[in-house]
Amino acid sequence: MTDAPARLAAFLEDLEQARQARDVTVVVVTKFHPAELVRELAEAGHRDFGENRHPEARDKALGLAQLGLTWHFLGQLQRKKARQVAAYADVLHSIDSIELVEALEGGESPHERPVRDALVQVNLTDDPGRGGIDPARVEALAERVAASPALRLRGVMAVAPLDEEPGRAFERLATHAERVRRLDASADWISAGMSADWREALQHGATHLRIGTAITGNRPAGG
Ligand SMILES: *Cc1c(COP(=O)(O)O)cnc(C)c1O
Repeated sequence: MTDAPARLAAFLEDLEQARQARDVTVVVVTKFHPAELVRELAEAGHRDFGENRHPEARDKALGLAQLGLTWHFLGQLQRKKARQVAAYADVLHSIDSIELVEALEGGESPHERPVRDALVQVNLTDDPGRGGIDPARVEALAERVAASPALRLRGVMAVAPLDEEPGRAFERLATHAERVRRLDASADWISAGMSADWREALQHGATHLRIGTAITGNRPAGG
């Protein structure tokens, strides 16, 4: 046993105080931790888990498949691995190019392909090398996702830049989320906020918090 279940309970209590009646999904990020930790949290009643690397994510999702958990893929998605990830990940948080959408549409015949929930990842930094699409191209990508038979457009995702007050960055993300909602009113998810900045994310409308260390404890070496 680890103390992760107790941390989860404490986190959910803090969230209960802060969330003001809005529905919020906590995605517990378990990267670098063993599948056993996921199992403990599942036994404590948690359903949503996030990973950012294939094949680590695949091994956990397949190893624990009988638990019926919801798996969120958070990391940069390589085109050539995209369909492998979509085979087990229920929600893809990091859709950041039209080429990636095309890659997800390839391969097996359409009726065998799972339709996955998808978020357009927005780059809130000035560095094009960081994950996410340039905010100027958010609508074009969101329209392409909405039209894709492989994906269901759900909203937007972002990581706050390291060199900016997170509340300001999440305020911008809220405007991008609104642009996407104007295209599709049902695409109202905002995936934002990690252990250090979830309160700011919540203030700016986050519907999905991605929480690692605050619940799992420090990641093992390498993480
Ligand atoms: C690791 C990770 C998180 C969780 O980070 P913590 O600071 O441990 O809460 C959230 N989002 C993404 C995309 C991550 O890679």
